[in-house]
Amino acid sequence: MANASEYEYDLLVIGAGSGGVRTARMAAATGARVAIAEDRYLGGTCVNVGCVPKKLYSYAAHFHDSFDDAAGFGWQLPGPASFDWATLRDNKISEIKRLNGIYQRMLEGAGVTLFNARASLADAHTVIMSSEHGDTTVTAEKIVLATGGWPWVPDFPGSEYALDSNQIFDLASFPKRFLVLGGGYIAVEFASIFNGLGSDTHLIYRGELFLKGFDQQVREFTCAQMEHKGVNLHFNTNIERIEATQDAYSVYLTNGDVLEVDVVLAATGRKANINNLGLDKLGLSLDEQGKIPVNERFETALPSILALGDLTAGPELTPVAIAEAMQLVDHHFTDTVPKALDYSTIPTAVFCHPNIGTVGLSEEAAREKFTNIRVYSTDFRAMKHTLSGSHERTLMKLIVDDATDVVVGAHMVGEEAGEVIQGIAIAVRAGLTKEDFDRTVGIHPTGAEEFVTLRTLTRT
Ligand SMILES: Cc1cc2nc3c(=O)[nH]c(=O)nc-3n(C[C@H](O)[C@H](O)[C@H](O)COP(=O)(O)OP(=O)(O)OC[C@H]3O[C@@H](n4cnc5c(N)ncnc54)[C@H](O)[C@@H]3O)c2cc1C
Repeated sequence: MANASEYEYDLLVIGAGSGGVRTARMAAATGARVAIAEDRYLGGTCVNVGCVPKKLYSYAAHFHDSFDDAAGFGWQLPGPASFDWATLRDNKISEIKRLNGIYQRMLEGAGVTLFNARASLADAHTVIMSSEHGDTTVTAEKIVLATGGWPWVPDFPGSEYALDSNQIFDLASFPKRFLVLGGGYIAVEFASIFNGLGSDTHLIYRGELFLKGFDQQVREFTCAQMEHKGVNLHFNTNIERIEATQDAYSVYLTNGDVLEVDVVLAATGRKANINNLGLDKLGLSLDEQGKIPVNERFETALPSILALGDLTAGPELTPVAIAEAMQLVDHHFTDTVPKALDYSTIPTAVFCHPNIGTVGLSEEAAREKFTNIRVYSTDFRAMKHTLSGSHERTLMKLIVDDATDVVVGAHMVGEEAGEVIQGIAIAVRAGLTKEDFDRTVGIHPTGAEEFVTLRTLTRT
């Protein structure tokens, strides 16, 4: 740990989100004097307007299918199930408040000083804290920028009527007709959520197919499954303008269609949250991807200023921000030099319905990287749906580098795909071969056992 008595703190973290909180707690555990500034909500995007409320809403939306599925198993409901938005929303609000409290107690318990303030850099060791009580300055040997991202909405006539993902969770009333603009995972997830909760749902995306960058077969399969569940997908089109009518919105599309909806969500991307952070004052600039460049020790161009999480390059995911936090603390506050993070085998899930879980390379990326690959894939109706009567199907897929037999990609679309792929990700990260998968005994009867029983080559 640095001997930095000339400063008030050894470390000052700006932003108490996924990465910032973990950095502050871990650094404080080494004996460092640590402070953290947060101007909005403890826990950051993930806890307040990201992973957590989204997953709670996704659980809620899944009940729709469960009620339908139950009849084939002998369950009879007293009448048609009805959904109360206010109950879900308010229970979600209480749960987030509980989590905010846990974060506060965790920070206090770790001995971290919390500033409820908007922070901006004054120089390489000084931060201005602005709050309703005025401005103060705080000095630190090292400063970590962990301010995350902020939704970005394109400018078009009527774009002011579109909500962003920060605003969608706490709607006053439930939208009977819901429209989401965007083709990334957040757009796809909200389309599934509102469709599952009972909205007539439209997804508008200017590209040919959503989820760019994911495995093509996964994208096509997901598209078919979501359409089957009733989501209206409009590709190769965009919003031309939105007009407010008396109690709804008319959304004019570039393909000539006009849709009447109650809510428009723009899930059109996120940008680094650097508003008034003072980067320019210190000569720090963003790279062409709009991220703060850092070296392997998370140092910006000014070595006393560090950055991590969504502000820097790499997947915008909570576990990535947390892993980076632990690396950063090891580099700067312990004698350990940690092994660099392996960004190529970070698993991820998309909580559309059915879920997607994925780790490693897509088939397309593997074809580019390796001379020969082998693809094993299966597409089946899960055992549960033999009695439920649901037509939902599951896709599982392994991609193997033919020269080494190493499994370089694993993909699933189906129930609890994220839960399944988390386990498979250990094998893919460890570089295990298809033979290792084949020698693993399955768990029966599960869907996941297909990953160790895939013997028939689908294509090379
Ligand atoms: C709708 C949605 C769903 C998501 N779902 C998932 C998911 O399922 N799984 C997953 O892994 N990831 C998910 N993410 C991404 C995940 O939330 C982020 O990757 C993660 O929160 C990044 O952490 P961070 O520490 O970089 O920043 P954040 O968590 O965004 O924290 C930044 C914090 O800094 C504060 N701040 C900003 N500027 C200042 C300032 N100047 N002074 C003081 N405080 C400041 C902000 O208020 C915020 O609390 C989702 C994101 C969204 C938007």
